Amino acid sequence: APKRIFNFNAGPAALPQTVLEEIQQEFLDFKGSGMSITEISHRSKWFDDVINDAVARTKRLFHLDDRYKVLFLQGGASMQFCMIPMNFLAEGRTADYVNTGTWSTKAIKEAQILGKPIKVAASSEDRNFAYIPKDIAFTPGATYVHITSNNTIKGTQWARFPDTGGVPLIADMSSDIFSRPFDAGRFGLFYAGAQKNMGPAGVCLVAVRDDMLALTPATLPTMLKYTTHADKNSMFNTPPCFAIYTVQLVLKWLEETVGGLDKMAQRNQQKADLLYNLMDESDFYNGTADKDSRSMMNVTFRLPDEALEKKFVAEATEAGFGGLKGHRSVGGCRASIYNATSVEAVQALVDFMKTFQSRNG
Ligand code: PMP
Repeated sequence: APKRIFNFNAGPAALPQTVLEEIQQEFLDFKGSGMSITEISHRSKWFDDVINDAVARTKRLFHLDDRYKVLFLQGGASMQFCMIPMNFLAEGRTADYVNTGTWSTKAIKEAQILGKPIKVAASSEDRNFAYIPKDIAFTPGATYVHITSNNTIKGTQWARFPDTGGVPLIADMSSDIFSRPFDAGRFGLFYAGAQKNMGPAGVCLVAVRDDMLALTPATLPTMLKYTTHADKNSMFNTPPCFAIYTVQLVLKWLEETVGGLDKMAQRNQQKADLLYNLMDESDFYNGTADKDSRSMMNVTFRLPDEALEKKFVAEATEAGFGGLKGHRSVGGCRASIYNATSVEAVQALVDFMKTFQSRNG
């Protein structure tokens, strides 16, 4: 069998091994077509079945009603940073943003470049984004409130989404989509780049409600309008077929093997608890996020000094644990434990961390 590491990469990240095997098995002859999925027309019945199944599974998993369209777009999550204000903030409209880290900051910057009169309703920048702000005063009558549900770099996550007084939420869920159930009905739109919790890079899932779609101005370039993609089931132009196909298989795994989002959330909680319990018991590994804001997906931590952090990452790599170096902008260490990371992988990491501490602590 091929040698596979314990993969704690932040993204692109680990995918379920059974999904990779399924791709491998049907790669040369996709469903009797005599072609691989990368060689098939996106206008074929074969691909129609793939994208329709991916949409249907997304709707089932999130209990989305008929007001929502599920789109698969290109340009990554980063493209959404500009598409959202372009589509929803016509003359006279405003929106609130909550700044909880690097990615929120980038979303805010794009709205500002476009000259939109948005407001930063709350920020946790004062303490290097180590927490999720509470008791936020949102602007009544705003068109949306934009949040980042999970902060990949800072290791924080909204445990509960804020009360916006009825203003639709928009969330960048790139690093925690499909990790837990949530009340999608409060969201006007949510989006996620695929490359952490659901597939390879190259596609961004967008779920958007019809009242938001109605705001899209006619004057936008065709490719930048949500309505273009909503009207054409994400096939206005050639979609990223291979990425969408992989997402479809991951969602099938999530529904049929894992058993849905409640089960997924339980497993994710179990994994996060293993690491956070170790940190709470130890003064060698120190979590960087406030306890009530900790992420179940990206566990960020420091060791007593940078030399030890370097040694830790090097020895972990040697022992078969990949991706533990923190983001280059913050340093330290980070274990990304997305859906496809098993409890056994996290337990193996915890065991390694205990041994490393006993040798170096
Ligand atoms: N938002 C979040 C929360 C992310 O973690 C990332 C990627 N690390 C992005 C946005 C950017 O995504 P993309 O590279 O798909 O544009």
